[in-house]
Amino acid sequence: MIDLRSDTVTLPSPEMREAIARAALGDDVYGEDPTVNRLEAMAAAAMGKEAALLVASGTMGNLAAMLVHCARGTKAVLGARAHAYLYEAGGAAALGGVVLTPIRNTEDGEFDLDELQFELETPADQHFAPPALVAMENTHNRCGGEAVALAHMAAVSETAHRHGLSVHLDGARIFNAALALEASASRIAAHADTVSFCLSKGLACPVGTLLCGPRPFVERARRTRKMLGGGMRQAGIIAAAGIVGLTAMVDRLAEDHENARALAEGLGRVAGLRVHPARRRTNMVFFEVAGGAAGARRFAGALKERGVLVGPRSPVEFRAVTHYGVSAADIQQAVLAAAAAAAKTACAAAAPAQG
Ligand SMILES: *Cc1c(COP(=O)(O)O)cnc(C)c1O
Repeated sequence: MIDLRSDTVTLPSPEMREAIARAALGDDVYGEDPTVNRLEAMAAAAMGKEAALLVASGTMGNLAAMLVHCARGTKAVLGARAHAYLYEAGGAAALGGVVLTPIRNTEDGEFDLDELQFELETPADQHFAPPALVAMENTHNRCGGEAVALAHMAAVSETAHRHGLSVHLDGARIFNAALALEASASRIAAHADTVSFCLSKGLACPVGTLLCGPRPFVERARRTRKMLGGGMRQAGIIAAAGIVGLTAMVDRLAEDHENARALAEGLGRVAGLRVHPARRRTNMVFFEVAGGAAGARRFAGALKERGVLVGPRSPVEFRAVTHYGVSAADIQQAVLAAAAAAAKTACAAAAPAQG
């Protein structure tokens, strides 16, 4: 199977398995796991922050960040298509009483700045929950996986800070953003007070996310992590793979971006498929299938029969993600499979190729 559903399906590299086997371990809740301590120091340095905390997942990282930044009954302002709004089970609302307040996202993952400004100018009046946090996402998963421009991040950050709010960045794929923007991860993270990034996506580690920020924030997040049941003991098992991820897997993301570009180009030539254009494409391709929901279901079924998996994003839309373990040859194979599946399921007849 060529599994393009997500970069979370990546399996650890042989070097990671080796590192896991050899990792020096201790009790991390006592602060005594040397491998975790080393990973946290590396992560803080990479993000240009004072300190970092290893947590179980991106969801836990964003949740801990929101619980620390936002008192109960305050607002976290975030994108209407943000992962933390759509795909994290409403955790900050359910567990922290945080009022998740969505702002319109443009196609390429930016905020509508006028709407943000209007939201933050909420009068300090008894009618309104006071805002505490603005959260950005880069790359923006539900907006084509696109990298969000630094100038836009600077504008959002400046607006939030002018209103006395904290800024968090969901940087689950910050190294993909760094590559697409030709900027270091720390330059991107500089537009936020706190940042989380995932080890378990393009970096191909089995588990883990790092939440980074000023030391007092990270110490509060450490207590929150414990409260959430995320205090892990010999977590060096996880951190050992993370160290390999940070040292050996960042540069190879360029290969994923090149494969995504080739995939977008190839699928764009298939009659019946419409590839969403991207200004700053990273490792994702979103595309629609002609012929309505039934046609799209048949297409995905026919594609699967030909050994290719993609993820549904709407009744007629799919997401394909390139990652470690998917080669350039696999991409060519996937394009051929998509063309055959489109021809077989007659969605090709519903719309000509884009050219
Ligand atoms: C994957 C992802 C997360 C976190 O997901 P987990 O599965 O909880 O690790 C957070 N934000 C974005 C943008 C993501 O893509």
